[in-house]
Amino acid sequence: MQNAGLAAVGLDWRYQAIETAPQDLAAAVKRLRSGTWVGANVTIPLKEVVVPLLDRLDPSAARTSAVNTIVVEAGRLAGYNTDVDGFLADLKAVWPLSAGGRALILGAGGAARAVAFGLAQHGLRLCLIARSAARASALAGDIRRMHPVDVAVAPWEKRSFAATGECRLVVNATPLGMPPNELVSPWPDEVPLPAGAFVYDLVYSPRETRLVRHARSSGLQAVTGAGMLLEQGARSFELWTGLLAPRERMRAALKQAIGEISVGRRAAHYSQTSEVRDA
Ligand code: NAP
Repeated sequence: MQNAGLAAVGLDWRYQAIETAPQDLAAAVKRLRSGTWVGANVTIPLKEVVVPLLDRLDPSAARTSAVNTIVVEAGRLAGYNTDVDGFLADLKAVWPLSAGGRALILGAGGAARAVAFGLAQHGLRLCLIARSAARASALAGDIRRMHPVDVAVAPWEKRSFAATGECRLVVNATPLGMPPNELVSPWPDEVPLPAGAFVYDLVYSPRETRLVRHARSSGLQAVTGAGMLLEQGARSFELWTGLLAPRERMRAALKQAIGEISVGRRAAHYSQTSEVRDA
């Protein structure tokens, strides 16, 4: 998607996926200072741990304490978060965000932070169900400090899922459903999804995740995160290049890539850090 965008605007740059283990992150970030790079994306599970390695945070990243985009600005590394606006832009296209109500977020990592801040900023009440109580409480506390919305936190247990009947929106912000967990759903089989809820699965490959299939077979509307992936990527592109992202070219390339990823994949497709290199 990014390479198609770069080619479309005539930039001789290359976007390259680099698998980066958490213990190698500091070295990977240091390499960005070499003068060869214009920026990077940071993805699961590095969006929060990368924060102290950067020189400056844009308000989008400072608010969420999570970075998905690094821009090299005169040799200094600036952290941005394009997930918030990318998620909101795609959600607004498919769901009436202004109608309010309560949203359920599964997970409390970097992407959950972006989703939670985006929804709270629009006045939605939140419920977080997460495996790590400490991460969920920290996220709830950060939101309450900045937005006057109710945030409930519940443990990752069947009874928590069963008590979400009032939620109008369900967002999966865990990697459950994405390879190598594509046969797994975050939602327990024996618990019905909230009646009438819209299901947004941040996982974008396979094309129909188990959660999305479950929702659709229960008569609910559901989408995967492919639209968000495009929108957050287009915003990253604009930060790196200063040019308007050629969205239609990027969308076509993404569609093709997701199709390819969906039919059985090498781990390299899920690399944890992807960088943009000035060739
Ligand atoms: P992250 O920071 O590592 O957070 C992952 C969250 O999922 C954590 O709360 C983690 O809990 C939880 N989790 C992991 N395995 C679990 C399990 N087996 N059971 C219950 N909870 C589990 O990752 P992230 O960056 O937020 O990414 C999360 C997902 O969103 C990934 O699939 C990523 O691809 C997707 N995403 C998509 C887009 C898009 O554009 N569509 C953008 C961003 C992210 P612990 O804290 O207990 O480990």
